[in-house]
Amino acid sequence: MLVISGCAVATVDAAGTEYADGHVVVDGARIAAVGAGPAPVVDGATRVDGRGCLATPGLVNTHHHLYQWATRGLATDETLFGWLTDLYPRWARIDEVTVGAAAAAGLGWLALSGCTTSTDHHYVFPRGAGDLLAAGVEAAARIGVRFHPTRGSMDRGKSDGGLPPDEVVEDLDAILAATADAVDRYHDPSPGAMVRVGVAPCSPFSVSTALLAEARDLARDKGVRLHTHLAETLDEEEFCLATHGCTPAEYMDSLGWLGGDVWVAHGIHLSSAAVRRLGATGTGVAHCPASNARLGAGTAPVRQLRAAGVPVGLGVDGAASNDSGLLVAELRQALYAARLRGGPTALGVRAALELATAGGARCLGRQDEIGSLEPGKLADVALWRLDGLGHAGIADPVAALVLGPPAPLALLTVGGRTVVAGGELRTADVAVLAADLAAAALTLASS
Ligand SMILES: [Zn+2]
Repeated sequence: MLVISGCAVATVDAAGTEYADGHVVVDGARIAAVGAGPAPVVDGATRVDGRGCLATPGLVNTHHHLYQWATRGLATDETLFGWLTDLYPRWARIDEVTVGAAAAAGLGWLALSGCTTSTDHHYVFPRGAGDLLAAGVEAAARIGVRFHPTRGSMDRGKSDGGLPPDEVVEDLDAILAATADAVDRYHDPSPGAMVRVGVAPCSPFSVSTALLAEARDLARDKGVRLHTHLAETLDEEEFCLATHGCTPAEYMDSLGWLGGDVWVAHGIHLSSAAVRRLGATGTGVAHCPASNARLGAGTAPVRQLRAAGVPVGLGVDGAASNDSGLLVAELRQALYAARLRGGPTALGVRAALELATAGGARCLGRQDEIGSLEPGKLADVALWRLDGLGHAGIADPVAALVLGPPAPLALLTVGGRTVVAGGELRTADVAVLAADLAAAALTLASS
């Protein structure tokens, strides 16, 4: 048993329950108790002094491309299409060693920013690169975070009118076979699962209509979730209007690609009808405000999406378009972006925290297990230290977390297991992760 006491607690439950001075009790992989005042005495329990700290649910990262952690700092002044065109040739050189190094470093960094569950959207599978999905799954097990990898894909290369060069796209049948295999090998539908797999053709401008239709059927046949990029840029909208005669949202709707088992990344350029349609179908949106700003793509209508009932989570997105990758920093970025678009009341600090926790859990279909601190839920807990130089004296701990600088973690547990303590990663040596990452970046830059 683990007993955290003396801390403020933001449960992010449906009622928004908070305790100025409270406790969290963990029994094995799950939360046993959350409440106000001192924790009950539990013989033999490990006790954590939470004074000066805020306990929140572990943060959920709903969109990422971990392999990109090895290709940061490039194409710094490009649009999405220009940036992709610049980076595709580097990505064509990835293999299981570079992907494993990037994923381990990226996930370690995410854990240090409060992330307990992360997705990964991997869609570049060069021939002969080895088992890239396994590399990600192994990295997540090493770091100790809950992992929702998606088997991505591209089958519409330049010669078929798509954006990616032909050497990074795959054949439709090969994609479907590899995707089915990924689900069969790694997807764990059982309660408390550490790994769940999704199906994720890359984007409307890099995959064929046939792939979207087949992937939809495959995912629904196997009972796993669907993910893709949607309505990220005006270039994408123009591509869809020219190619399919409709907007990206209309195109995906026509293919049965909206629904409660789907979450999409970005959702920026959406008409009000599309926002309503996402809400009516229960389609989730992974909001990636830092990436969107980096690429000058625009800002998702988060307020309208939430009002329409759309599950909205936060994502750091691929590190090549978010060179920081700090998940906790996305809370402030989301608040800033929403207010720049919709004025000072567009998003509050508690709504920002909700996006990063309960909202993300809904995107992944795991709202019954993660995203809030409640008895019976998985013990994915972040304990933020708010009594240091960056936060001391801020009376409202949630405001301190969201508006202040990225807070250090006193503790991060995933399923009750300690991943971060005292601000340090406890599951892997960060010097080794960093050295492996630097080597991977060098390989992709020079080969
Ligand atoms: Zn992305």
